[in-house]
Amino acid sequence: MKLQISSGDRQFLLDTASATPDVEVCGLLLGTGGRVERLVPARNVAHDPARSFEIDPATLLATHREARGTGLAVIGHWHSHPNGRAEPSARDAARATENGQIWLIIAAGDMTAWAPHSSGGGPAHFHPVAIEVA
Ligand SMILES: [Zn+2]
Repeated sequence: MKLQISSGDRQFLLDTASATPDVEVCGLLLGTGGRVERLVPARNVAHDPARSFEIDPATLLATHREARGTGLAVIGHWHSHPNGRAEPSARDAARATENGQIWLIIAAGDMTAWAPHSSGGGPAHFHPVAIEVA
């Protein structure tokens, strides 16, 4: 499994994260299979946006609705880590479920992608997903 993203979209995400270095920025990945076709920025409505993220539920709902008519699907989401750590945080792991969604994390001027999986009903773990910039 790998994630394909255009260099323009990649740059947009790096710029968005560096523009607000004190809070986690977040949004949705729209695409087909493992290919990102469109980025949907969302408001981070977490109580502590410096250390966690929660995608605005209104954006989530509207994006799912909009995607239905386009042949695209919400294949995952992105968020940034102002502390520069490229791997999912303990908070991320606590919220992850095995639902086929890609977690894209922007940190320290680069990005990593992850997919949650669970074994035997325990808490989900992340395994890395390769990113291919087209
Ligand atoms: Zn995180």
